[in-house]
Amino acid sequence: MKNFSFVALDLETTGLDESAEIIEIGLVKFIDGEITDKYQTLLKPSKPISKEIEELTGITNEMLKDKPKWAMIEHDVLDFIGQDFLVAHNASFDSGFISRVTDKLIEKIWVDTYQLAKIALPTIPNYKLADIAQFFNLKIEKYHRAANDAEMAGKILLNLAKTLFKYSPFLIQENIELLQNTNDGLTYILKNVQTKIISKFSYDENIHQGQEQNYSNTALNIKEGSETLKPGGIISSCYNNYEYRVEQVNMLKVVDKAFLENKHAIIEAGTGIGKSMAYLIPALIWAQKKEKKVIIATHTIALQEQLFKKEVPFLEKCFEVKLPVAIIKGRNNYICKRRFEKIKVLKKTESKENIFLIQINNWLSETKYGDKEELNLKKYENEYWHQISSQSETCLARKCPFFYKECLYMKNKRHSEKSNIIITNHALLLQDAKINNKLLPEYDYAIIDEAHNLEEEATEQFATKVDLLKVIKLCNQLCKGKNIGIIDRINFQITSSDNLGNFDLVKENIQIIKDETQILKSKVLEIKELFFNSRISNFDETRITQKERMSPEWICFLEQLDELKNFITSLKVKLVKVISYLDSIEKLEDYNKEMDFIVKIISENIETLNIFLEGKNPNYVYWIASNKGNNFQNLIIFTAPIEIGSILSKNLFNDKKSIVLTSATLSVAGSFDYTIKSLGLKGYDILQFTANSPFNYKNKSLICIPSDIPDPTLTSEDNYTKEIINNIKTILKVAKGGVLILLTSNKMLNKIYYALKKDSNLKDKNILTPGIDGSRTTVIKQLKDNISTVVLGVNSFWEGIDVKGDALTTVIIVKLPFVPPTRPVVAARLDKLKENGEMGFFVYSLPKAILKFRQGYGRLIRDKNDWGALIILDQRIISKNYGKQFLSSLPSQRIIQDTSKKVYNSLEKWVNN
Ligand code: SF4
Repeated sequence: MKNFSFVALDLETTGLDESAEIIEIGLVKFIDGEITDKYQTLLKPSKPISKEIEELTGITNEMLKDKPKWAMIEHDVLDFIGQDFLVAHNASFDSGFISRVTDKLIEKIWVDTYQLAKIALPTIPNYKLADIAQFFNLKIEKYHRAANDAEMAGKILLNLAKTLFKYSPFLIQENIELLQNTNDGLTYILKNVQTKIISKFSYDENIHQGQEQNYSNTALNIKEGSETLKPGGIISSCYNNYEYRVEQVNMLKVVDKAFLENKHAIIEAGTGIGKSMAYLIPALIWAQKKEKKVIIATHTIALQEQLFKKEVPFLEKCFEVKLPVAIIKGRNNYICKRRFEKIKVLKKTESKENIFLIQINNWLSETKYGDKEELNLKKYENEYWHQISSQSETCLARKCPFFYKECLYMKNKRHSEKSNIIITNHALLLQDAKINNKLLPEYDYAIIDEAHNLEEEATEQFATKVDLLKVIKLCNQLCKGKNIGIIDRINFQITSSDNLGNFDLVKENIQIIKDETQILKSKVLEIKELFFNSRISNFDETRITQKERMSPEWICFLEQLDELKNFITSLKVKLVKVISYLDSIEKLEDYNKEMDFIVKIISENIETLNIFLEGKNPNYVYWIASNKGNNFQNLIIFTAPIEIGSILSKNLFNDKKSIVLTSATLSVAGSFDYTIKSLGLKGYDILQFTANSPFNYKNKSLICIPSDIPDPTLTSEDNYTKEIINNIKTILKVAKGGVLILLTSNKMLNKIYYALKKDSNLKDKNILTPGIDGSRTTVIKQLKDNISTVVLGVNSFWEGIDVKGDALTTVIIVKLPFVPPTRPVVAARLDKLKENGEMGFFVYSLPKAILKFRQGYGRLIRDKNDWGALIILDQRIISKNYGKQFLSSLPSQRIIQDTSKKVYNSLEKWVNN
């Protein structure tokens, strides 16, 4: 560790744009792994700082008024840094700011801990400073202050360097080569690791090794599933304090009956039933008895992982057998080693791509499944992934050198072929249904968990889209010059190898393709310009009805889109020609396969544009989503079926013998009518069952409804928000334990979040929201770990959060979660219902809102010892007639409804008792 010294640096700034200035610098010197010195100072900017920056950093204009300018501290900073290299998290941000005030640090080596973390820890959920710190269990007093963040970046560097020792010297050398001299900082650290200068911190190899259990492969010797759950049964013997739950056994029997009688079933299983055991056990027995495959589909990855990594191993332990269970995801979720090896040797145009490839290279040395889900990729990295993922069009199958042993996709496939239970997700199940069971193994029986999400997921899966940005990327994938695009590489191959044959026709077409991709790219830019400059629409999502199609602006836009479609079609013709000319040349098979893949995507785009431009199908909704961001403008063209029930009925329920739908929320006010209708199950003889939660909601929970908060639809947004903020502040003073605030809009979330953060009376509260304070996972972890945490969240926070005990005792629902009626699919559904003489609000919007409301409420009581209060700040729940339906959809319990003052007094007493 000798001579390994560096300075960690962090800046706080007035903002992110070009005119922003540095307001704080923090430097921390590390020598041989120890902090030896610190330097921190505030700097006076030329303009006052904004409220947001004051709130984010805690640095106020008052604090900055007498502080020096950069010129006055530059000498001290340079002196402190001396000959050391610099370390920062997202270093390009800091080095960019530093280069605006001095050029004396430009030549230094900068190590970016964000990039280093990506390659040393390829699979952690997030790479924000706080998330990596949490991974290493490093504590910090307060983020967003320069000295603290700098110290954390330095400690993270040391931990990351230690972590790199898990990789072989050969792999580290490959990492260095993959960097292609594009990143001095990473190369410097990797070389240091290689030469073991920092070997003092030798890595504990055992940390990441899982324990593999070896069970025999004998058959599951159980005849009656319900016997296993009875006291004294096999399952009870695996628990210390086993609780027999009658409703769990009843649910198991309904699953059994559905399979036996070839019927579909809807089962609502209240929280605490243990529903996954109630369907896994009968599914396993059924699959074995009948030698048939049973598919289990979940909506979230979390549940999929829980089933595969927790529930199945638990059952294997109980039954002492290896169970024939496999996970299947879409093929493009798995890596194609052959494509990866090809990409590795190409020169990269973006250094981000080099980092991505090293991350993949390191991950490949440890992954068992090669599933991209392990990587938590960002949006731009998904584009890179697309070039290395397994695809049927690009696969060489038996001709591939990896086919028999190393191909992880093939390994997973072979395993799933031998398995009777296949765990998958809604998306793949629906894609498979869309194309006649060509993706999953043949099956007749399925269990769909988290089925309350099936309608939304099916709408998405049966929709088609053309992403204009992706069209440009596709053009770049074909032709980018410098031997990078596929066409460029083909061109290089045929012009440099005399012995491949005569390629005059190919060369002619290649030139045309090169020209046409350029024209296509400019055509896309023209269309985007037309859309954004003409202000044809001010919405993020614009539904295109027949009315729009008649207006002059839209006529012009659609004509342009039609022209674009013609260009794409022409390009496809040339590509197909080139493919057919090269078809017989084995040496070019790789390229041809890649071209096949691109032609497939292009064909799908043409088909979608045809449907969109025609726009005549009354059962379809057409819309354009626009992103108006400053650096990134994009348009996505969508088409989707308005009503999904008949499609599910035809493609899924008609085809299968028995499908069991289950979730904690499938009924509205005790009826499954909405679920049956929306999923296309009307007319089937279905089993319906509700397994009530074993929890004592009456004694353990309280519902509070303050009656004096204005109706959100009858008051201004500002007044309403102010009122809500005041109420939340009072609730937070009364509440004991963790609090979850559920919202329906990001705009309102931000207003409430900053108002709470600013309030000095709430200094002892750990107020968090994802995006600002870390990822969803990090924020939920803090809610679990620290009982003074208050989390604000939208959408995904309404479900899937399982926090028990004092860590979550209060759930606040700010507004009833109605879907915005302006969203294209929602608007089209409401119009359709109106056409059919139905009241869209009551048959669609209301039941959907109630199901989501029940999901939100479900976050409160997670086990039999749990307790807590639900506070509903939307007075429509009492002032409107439909409000009763929300309340009657919840399990029976105590409700307090009064003025806010009285409600919060009662809440305080209840909490203290
Ligand atoms: S067998 Fe197919 S998917 Fe697997 S590595 Fe080879 S080409 Fe890729």
